[in-house]
Amino acid sequence: MSIKITTKLAEKSNISSFDPENIVFGRVFTDHMFSCDFKNNQWQDFRIEPFGKIALSPTLSALHYGQAIFEGMKAVKNEDGVITLFRPLENLKRLNHSAERMCMPQLPEEIFMEALEKLLLLDKEWIPAKRGSSLYIRPFMFATDDFLGVKASENYCFMIYACPVSSYYSHPLKVRVEETYTRACKGGVGAAKCAGNYAASMYPTRLAQKDGFDQVLWTDGEHHQYLEETGTSNVFVITPDAVYTPQLNDSLLAGITRDSIITLLRSQGMNVIEKQISINEVIGWHESGTLREMFVSGTAATVTNIEMFSYRGREYRVNAKENLLSTDILNTFNDMKTLIIPDKFDWITILQESTIMHQ
Ligand SMILES: *Cc1c(COP(=O)(O)O)cnc(C)c1O
Repeated sequence: MSIKITTKLAEKSNISSFDPENIVFGRVFTDHMFSCDFKNNQWQDFRIEPFGKIALSPTLSALHYGQAIFEGMKAVKNEDGVITLFRPLENLKRLNHSAERMCMPQLPEEIFMEALEKLLLLDKEWIPAKRGSSLYIRPFMFATDDFLGVKASENYCFMIYACPVSSYYSHPLKVRVEETYTRACKGGVGAAKCAGNYAASMYPTRLAQKDGFDQVLWTDGEHHQYLEETGTSNVFVITPDAVYTPQLNDSLLAGITRDSIITLLRSQGMNVIEKQISINEVIGWHESGTLREMFVSGTAATVTNIEMFSYRGREYRVNAKENLLSTDILNTFNDMKTLIIPDKFDWITILQESTIMHQ
């Protein structure tokens, strides 16, 4: 089955405003965007239009009660101009998981993939071919009922827009282990990629940034003892014996990068352990000199080292400088996405005219 997408082209491309050598994260958007509406229990009115403002009612349900979810993914172009996506169906799966938690409708695969394909091919000139750069893609869904009362909306909008990016962080991170504020708690919505989780994290993040940190390293809401993640990325801790990452629970966002790293490292024979990791355990490794490396992982953040964490006012340096596992992982992912090495996990989708094809 195939959906019918109507297309209204931009009168003039905005691409001259975009300098691939000097990309500012999240400020310049491609020429077009995709939208469709959920009305009468059905997705309809699939359309690609020039990127621009949308008219909304002040009563829009999403603005008041926060039914709003999103995804983040990237398209990469190699030197031969081949465009790839990395595990796009995992993003769809997670979008639908978030939708279920927030009482929002499921989005069918054909809408997601055909919208992506058509939009990205139309704006393919915007995908930078420089290694490490990519086109960040933002699919999102929000409630559109014009109704004052608190209830799950009956109408929704799903949209996709995109913007060229280089890396999100350009330096290793300093993070503060958070003990006062909580990002997500048991039974809450931490495992959903919903807008409100970000709203909740902004104040503690601002406090940490005022003190010179890049990010908060969240701990569990109950004990403030077990590592969870940073604001937009999952976290890994490396010792000579194993690669550790917090085990998934309902207050953690199940990153696709996280899952890919676990699969990749295990395929290379490494001992990857998903478990509750207490901050005291990490400090113990630091004190015994076995804390080799820490990094965060996410689509926007890629794989970025943590050079220092602070806990109860004390700073702990993670001194890894050479032979970083994070650098190896990043290179392997970049090589996979640009088809330099074989895609043995079946993660890469090559974007082509008219059909989305697996390699
Ligand atoms: C999106 C996100 C991540 C990373 O997920 P990826 O699929 O790897 O991009 C991690 N934590 C939070 C809170 C997120 O929103």
